[in-house]
Amino acid sequence: MSSALRFQVVGEAFKKHPVEVKAPTERPSEFFGKYVFSRQKMAQYLPEDVYTKMIAVMDGGATLDLATADVVAESMKRWAMDLGVTHITHWFQPLTEGTAEKHDGFVVHDGHGGMIEEFTGKQLVQQEPDASSFPSGGIRSTFEARGYSAWDPASPVFVIGDTLMIPTIFIAYTGEALDYKAPLKKALHAVDKAATAVAQLFYPDVKKVVSNLGWEQEYFLVDEGLYAARPDLLMTGRTLMGHDSAKNQQMDDHYFGSIPERVAAFMRDLEIQALELGIPCKTRHNEAAPNQFELAPIYEETNLAVDHNMLLMMLMKKVARHHGFRCLLHEKPFAGINGSGKHNNWSLTTDTGILLHGPGRTQKDNLRFITFIVETLMAVWRHNGLLKASIVSASNAHRLGGYEAPPAIISSFLGTQLSAVLDHLEKSTDDAITLDSKHELRLDIPQIPELLIDNTDRNRTSPFAFTGNRFEFRAVGSEANCASAMIALNSAVAEALMDFRKRVDELTAAGSDTMSAILKLVRQDIAACRAIRFDGNGYSQEWQQEAARRGLDTEGSVPLVIDRYLDDESVEMFARTHVFERKELEARNEIKWDTYTKKIQIEARIFGDLCINHIVPVATRYQSQLIDSVHKMLDIFSAEKARELSANNISLIEQIAEHTSFITSNVDKLIDARRVANRIEDVRQRAIAYHDTVAPLIETIRKHVDKLELIVDDELWPLPKYRELLFIR
Ligand code: ADP
Ligand code: MG
Repeated sequence: MSSALRFQVVGEAFKKHPVEVKAPTERPSEFFGKYVFSRQKMAQYLPEDVYTKMIAVMDGGATLDLATADVVAESMKRWAMDLGVTHITHWFQPLTEGTAEKHDGFVVHDGHGGMIEEFTGKQLVQQEPDASSFPSGGIRSTFEARGYSAWDPASPVFVIGDTLMIPTIFIAYTGEALDYKAPLKKALHAVDKAATAVAQLFYPDVKKVVSNLGWEQEYFLVDEGLYAARPDLLMTGRTLMGHDSAKNQQMDDHYFGSIPERVAAFMRDLEIQALELGIPCKTRHNEAAPNQFELAPIYEETNLAVDHNMLLMMLMKKVARHHGFRCLLHEKPFAGINGSGKHNNWSLTTDTGILLHGPGRTQKDNLRFITFIVETLMAVWRHNGLLKASIVSASNAHRLGGYEAPPAIISSFLGTQLSAVLDHLEKSTDDAITLDSKHELRLDIPQIPELLIDNTDRNRTSPFAFTGNRFEFRAVGSEANCASAMIALNSAVAEALMDFRKRVDELTAAGSDTMSAILKLVRQDIAACRAIRFDGNGYSQEWQQEAARRGLDTEGSVPLVIDRYLDDESVEMFARTHVFERKELEARNEIKWDTYTKKIQIEARIFGDLCINHIVPVATRYQSQLIDSVHKMLDIFSAEKARELSANNISLIEQIAEHTSFITSNVDKLIDARRVANRIEDVRQRAIAYHDTVAPLIETIRKHVDKLELIVDDELWPLPKYRELLFIR
């Protein structure tokens, strides 16, 4: 496929996909949530008493009885059928990085030879998808394949096309979670309970704490025609070979640049569809790498935000195809330029509207603010290895530790102002707290400027940065289900807050005043978790060494990082917060190791095939052309003259021979390495073998393929090149 041909492919795409998107006649505020059975719609469609019951259920207070569910289902059906819906599906998040659905029609026999539409409470509340084909890590062997999905009323149902989608958890009959949502809900419950207990020390009226998540989704777009000509992209989501384009992102001209027309049309279409599904899209812009973009909604309650992210990723892929693009969510589709992440902005808020993160007006507010900051840091410090384990994957590994993304070490950046406050507090003495005659609290905390919220200095190299009124967990992968990170973070923070409250209670039981007790403990904890605070350059070599000295987890091998889930501290933490039992952690780790192995295995296979079927034959053909030319020179010129004139070609012939023979022999080694690894019974050991022997060989061989790309005639080169994939729109 020559460059000219490749251009044709793109031209066709332009013709097929005009940049116009039909604009809806309504404003976004009017069509927002059009396809969601929201509280508003419930109020409209449900009898009043049932509506009241449902609100209680959704807010976590009550359990749903079947009679209520029947009424709700009937109303949902009426609403959905008005939109042309004929099917329902439970929509769940199994441990494959995607979502799953199984559609059933509304129709049932009416007993008189005809059909009627029916949708019962039972169908709404519970289904039994044949679970045997979903990963379960040995929790359920195939002969007891039963798992069931159960409606999560906290996440509203929605309509896509002709189908009513019902967000559900997915669990084994024996109760273990087979998905992301079930443990996420447990973690959110744990952090609610623990944070409420601590918040009540300051504000006795607080009844509930909500965990919020605002994700920022990065992605690449490539032309569909070119994508189809790259078997590696098609099968693995990333290019396994490809030389740097002469121009990539060195000019920094893409970030926040003007959005190309065809891309803008895609974004518009995507946003309209997302808004209709209730995803509060807010921000869109070009990212740092060419053809890389970002979409961010306004933050929401974490469970809903996770559902919305899964839904958005699904939509992105679908809508991209309508515009002749493929949307790449892989963390590192192209070597040498920035990969994609998914920043997870996280915070806690109370039902009384007080932001737990963000300095307040009174000294008490300030101490509350600092308490939650410090206890979050305690959690991140204690479980830094686990948090890393919550975001690693075969694909995210290409991004972490590069010079463009957070390093494979978790640390937290607070900014100079907040750091100064904590340092000051740590050094201050017990006299720092007094109660004056009006019982007004006086703390020796330097005034925290209100501007802090908008004004924190930025450190792009930090994986867990405080950004004014939230922490931003930046190490999450673009392709990942955010739930994984959110389960670990919220559970760990819940544990830290449980401990904190317990220690405060012990001090007050011994006669201490509550605020003095809090201050004392906060001071202790600032000192204890000092190691996690790092405001310097996370990309630097020195940080690697410094972090190891501080006792932070610096392991970079994915299969070994996954071990952190089974550390005693992790098992204990998840047990105390009732999020996972050891058995579940073991099962889930098996899946993680197995998934890692399979990903590398597929890459190795495709890569080997491409080398042997695409690259080596083409290089050899070009080499033969060069050899022919050298021979023909001898026909025309004297031997000496011919040699002189062919010097360059002879050198190329030699280089091609060296590269192709390296590639062929090392692809053999790659196949052997796979064979050896495949024989290993133990899933963990097998993943380690894939990491240590198979993955590095791919990278080594790739260098030679990329060299050949620079040598071989462009007319012959079989794969679209980086400059085409990345710059043609
Ligand atoms: P950035 O400068 O990091 O790109 P944005 O303004 O794009 O920041 O916001 C990133 C995300 O952070 C958005 O989803 C936004 O709604 C979310 N966010 C803002 N405040 C909070 C908060 N208190 N808690 C959680 N997420 C928040
Ligand atoms: Mg951000």
